Amino acid sequence: MLWRGARDWPLFLTGKSMIVAGGLNAKVVIYPIAEGSSPASRLTNWAVLVKVGEGNVPPPRKEDWSRPGRREELMPHVARFSVPYIDVKSLISATPEFYEYPTCDRDPLPYWSSGRVTLLGDAAHPMYPVGSNGASQAILDARCLADALVRAEHPRQALLEYEKKRLPMTADIVRSNRRGGPEGVIDAVEQLAPDGFDNVDNVLSYSQREAIVRGYATKAGFAAVPGLAAVRA
Ligand SMILES: Cc1cc2nc3c(=O)[nH]c(=O)nc-3n(C[C@H](O)[C@H](O)[C@H](O)COP(=O)(O)OP(=O)(O)OC[C@H]3O[C@@H](n4cnc5c(N)ncnc54)[C@H](O)[C@@H]3O)c2cc1C
Repeated sequence: MLWRGARDWPLFLTGKSMIVAGGLNAKVVIYPIAEGSSPASRLTNWAVLVKVGEGNVPPPRKEDWSRPGRREELMPHVARFSVPYIDVKSLISATPEFYEYPTCDRDPLPYWSSGRVTLLGDAAHPMYPVGSNGASQAILDARCLADALVRAEHPRQALLEYEKKRLPMTADIVRSNRRGGPEGVIDAVEQLAPDGFDNVDNVLSYSQREAIVRGYATKAGFAAVPGLAAVRA
């Protein structure tokens, strides 16, 4: 389940910094999205992503972008985050309203196109939203489909060409997102040092951390590797 909200809050670090903490089972992501009410504050977005079930468990409440979250369900998960620079519990407690969205994916489909109809974006490959994916992949689909339509002599040929290129790539991302995205670097460190560490380089070297992030970025088709600087920290 993903809970999300935003609140005017004292800025942390550079005022443009992002915090990603936790692992695949429970993660908190915090970053500013707009100026705040004073130069020392920012409208600060937060998201808490928690694995609440897997396999043969009852399905979550049906997805709805506007469904308010339930504080009694969220707060026990928040208690486990201890993050430098910002008091996560206070930030979330002070957010008057927040929303929930079940983050479920679907197994990759065997085909997308039938005659003159094809699928794109979430209709084709709903995926677990890690690595800033989902919308990004929908955009890459659209670009590929547009290019194929321009090139092809017949639209049906374009749909097939598009599907042949994009279906295997996105199926790969759907599967790998179940194991975590570029943030998998956090999972790897947590696994190797479950009791914490003083120097991250002693747990996993910079080049090992870079390999995890770069490997995901290549798979996802992103030319640049945003956030690579964070791996250095
Ligand atoms: C909480 C959350 C956080 C996310 N964060 C990120 C992120 O940081 N980065 C990222 O890249 N992705 C993220 N995603 C995923 C991203 O939102 C989706 O992958 C993306 O919106 C998919 O785009 P789409 O155009 O395929 O589908 P949608 O955005 O779902 O668009 C489909 C549209 O079709 C409309 N529609 C449905 N049925 C009909 C109908 N019968 N007639 C007419 N219209 C219809 C719907 O109303 C909707 O507007 C996140 C998702 C969630 C739930």
